[in-house]
Amino acid sequence: MTSGFGMSRSFLLHLHCANCQRPSTKAVVVPIAEGAPSTVDEFIDMLEYRPVPFSCRHCESLIGELVGVTVERREAAA
Ligand SMILES: [Zn+2]
Repeated sequence: MTSGFGMSRSFLLHLHCANCQRPSTKAVVVPIAEGAPSTVDEFIDMLEYRPVPFSCRHCESLIGELVGVTVERREAAA
């Protein structure tokens, strides 16, 4: 359950709260495995049928508008 357990990739969702209009980000760690998204496009496809729950850290609104996704490479600690 810690980093370094297998290979994983971290996608960072950039969201805009629909209520308070503040930007926020949410990291989603995806294992590097067959069937798992490996690019931003594939990740966005996955979100369409498996949405990631959002909750604004400022106002606790549950509605966020997705404005972008970036991917971070995560190196397994040896
Ligand atoms: Zn908010």
